[in-house]
This record gives sequence, C-alpha cells and structure tokens, in this order.
Amino acid sequence: MAAFKGTDFYQFENLLSDEERLIQKTVRDFVETEFLPLLRDSYRKGEFPAQIIPKLGELGLLGPNLSGYDCPGLNNLAYGLINQELERGDSGLRSFASVQGSLVMYPIYTFGSEEQKQKWLPKLAAGEAVGCFGLTEPDFGSNPSGMRTRAEKTDGGWLLNGAKMWITNGSMADICVIWARTNEGVRGFLVERGRAGFETKTMHGKLSLRASDTAELLFENCELPEENLLPKTDGVKSALKCLSQARYGIAWGAIGAAMACFEEATEYSKGRIQFDGKPISSHQLVQEKLAYMLTEITKAQALVFQLARLKDSGVVTASQISLAKRNNVNHAIEIARLARQVLGANGILDDYHSMRHACNLESVLTYEGTHDIHTLILGYEITGTPAFS
Ligand SMILES: Cc1cc2nc3c(=O)[nH]c(=O)nc-3n(C[C@H](O)[C@H](O)[C@H](O)COP(=O)(O)OP(=O)(O)OC[C@H]3O[C@@H](n4cnc5c(N)ncnc54)[C@H](O)[C@@H]3O)c2cc1C
Repeated sequence: MAAFKGTDFYQFENLLSDEERLIQKTVRDFVETEFLPLLRDSYRKGEFPAQIIPKLGELGLLGPNLSGYDCPGLNNLAYGLINQELERGDSGLRSFASVQGSLVMYPIYTFGSEEQKQKWLPKLAAGEAVGCFGLTEPDFGSNPSGMRTRAEKTDGGWLLNGAKMWITNGSMADICVIWARTNEGVRGFLVERGRAGFETKTMHGKLSLRASDTAELLFENCELPEENLLPKTDGVKSALKCLSQARYGIAWGAIGAAMACFEEATEYSKGRIQFDGKPISSHQLVQEKLAYMLTEITKAQALVFQLARLKDSGVVTASQISLAKRNNVNHAIEIARLARQVLGANGILDDYHSMRHACNLESVLTYEGTHDIHTLILGYEITGTPAFS
C-alpha cells in the first residue's frame, strides 16, 4: 500500500506555482522554527509574543495581498496559504496578521487619503507599527450598526466619545481604525496611541486565543484632526467590506489549525498502545475519527482554492466568503475536539496542540460574524428574506 501523503490528499499542491509553493514552505518553516518554540510560554502568560512582529514584516506576511507602499502584492491564493500556515501554529498568530493586513492596512488602502497611505502602510507592512480595528462595542457585537460610539464634527476636526471591546492587538496598537456614528452615518477614523482622551485596557481571563492581545478602547472627548477621517468610508458597509477580507483569511486559517490537529492525532494514535499490544490507530472508532478529519479538511481545501480563484478574478461575493468561513471553522473545531479525544488524557496538556487549537477556535467561531450570523447571511442569500431580527 502506498504511504499516506498527509493532509494534501487531493494533491492541491499541484495547483500551486513555484512561488506559491515557496511562500507556503517559508511560512511553515518560520512557524515551526521561530514561532512555536515561543508559544507555550506566551499562551500560559496570556500574551502575544510581540518579538516576532518584525520577522512577520521581514517575511512580507503583513498585508501581503496589497500592492505598492512596500506591500508584496501577492495573489489571494498565496495570501490564503499564508493564513493557513500561520494558523497551523496558532489562531492568535493568524489573528495578529489578519487584523494588521485585512482590518487595518486594507481600510487605509481602500478608504484612506494618499497621505494616510504613505504615512502608515509601509510601517505597518514592515511591522514597525501595529494596528487594530475597533468595531465591536460592549452592547453591539453581531449588530454593529447599532453602535453608540459617536464622532461629532468640530471646527478643526472631530470629537470622539464611546467604547470598543474585544479589540485584537488593542493594547499594542500604534494606530486604530475606529468606526463611529456621525451626522452623516458611520465613518472610519484613524486614532493614534497617545492622543488625549484615548485609553486602552487589556482584557484578562480569556480561556481561548490566549496568545493574542485583546483590549477595550475608551474614548472620552478625544479630539481628532480632520485628516484622521478615512475619507472614503461610507456607512457600516465600509466596515463590512474589511470583514470580508478577514473572513476570507479565516476560512483558510481554520484549515491550518485542523491540519495540525489531524497530524497530531494520527501520529499519536500510531504510537499509543492499548488492549492486546495494538496501537489505538488499529481500532475502527479511532479510524472513523481520522477519516472524518481528512474528509472535512479535503472538502474545506476545495472550497478555499475555488474561493481564491473567485477573489483573484474580482467576482467573489460576501456570502461566498461567509459559506467558507462558516463551514471551515465549524469543521475545524470539531476536528480539534476529536483530535483531543484521540490523545486521551495527554490531550489536555499543553505539550500537545489540539486542545489549544480547539480552545482558540471557540473565538474564531464567534468573531468575524458568529457561526449563526453566517447561517443567516446564507439564509438571506438563498431566500431573499433577511431573518436577522
Ligand atoms: C478573541 C476575540 C477577538 C475579537 N477581535 C475583535 C476585533 O479585533 N475587532 C472587533 O471589532 N471585534 C472583535 N471581536 C468581537 C467579535 O467580532 C464579536 O464577539 C462578534 O461579532 C459577536 O458579538 P458578541 O460577542 O457581542 O455576541 P452577540 O452579538 O451578543 O451574540 C451572542 C449570540 O447570539 C447570537 N445572535 C446574535 N444575533 C442573532 C440573531 N439575529 N439571530 C440569531 N442569533 C443571533 C450569536 O450568533 C451568538 O451566538 C473579537 C472577539 C473575540 C472573542
């Protein structure tokens, strides 16, 4: 019998160019040799290992699918593979890069003035500055259009008041993309660290995504000059456009987490002996779990490879991205939970990865549109009837 070739069961690698293959290998090597050795300690402490940020910049992993302003201008297949490989390490690492690239650089790139782009994009691409994206509020998560944060027009600019919660990279950020209600509807603003009336508070006590920085952002009469408005933002739909970019990356990233869990469970099952000196991999119930994992990973890969083509052709829709985010995260978390079961008691130790991935994926299931909200987006697409309220 031919040796099992791992998680690329349908040979998707054959669809990659040499450059895409090299990018994937480079990110995988970086994650294995430079990121994972730091991770256990960071996860225990509940901190993002910020010392790797310059390396993420050096490798071109921050805003990789943007062009110009020192960004590499890669296609969306390469961008997807980067997300997959980062999350194969940890969802917190992929979250850092997703927020920086899709939720901070993308809105500056898409809705910013030329001065804003020149000032921020090269620094963010190099990892010399960190960004965050403040949309969610204490009372408005799935329904951001209800937001209370307000920006009032003043003589020379804007006065910002309100609070944002659950903001990834929030305590580390040099620059925040903040969404606020104005008399002309919701607009996006850039708020730099250090502005009077702006404060951040790290959120503690997370049992998920521990190697990620999450913060509250508080604005009390925070004065912003006119040039801090992202001039092309126009309503909540501008924020949702950013979320589509990030959700695309998550659909890929979840596969990375699932791959790590499948590989760990497969290897462990071959070495763990129970009953009559046989490895647990020889039992049908263990094989059924592994077969489920491989099947769902392969189906998820098929989704994102086609999604990348649609995105590169400029025809991808938000609901197509919703379908992939919803499906891939949902199966990734199930795979992580099953992998943890295959590992038995050892699976609850942080010597292994599956339980950490399962815990992380609880956040991934919730952020960037919960599983149920993506169900409603698809329901709306199918029936033409919104069922959100
Ligand atoms: C670790 C982490 C990092 C995050 N990072 C960021 C960030 O960087 N920036 C940012 O802006 N936000 C961020 N978020 C916030 C995230 O986007 C929200 O948590 C998410 O949108 C859900 O909002 P909520 O938590 O308020 O849940 P709620 O909206 O209160 O939902 C609670 C439950 O009710 C369900 N529900 C809500 N409305 C409906 C409905 N109409 N029909 C059926 N079910 C419904 C939901 O599916 C969910 O199961 C982060 C969250 C986490 C956990």
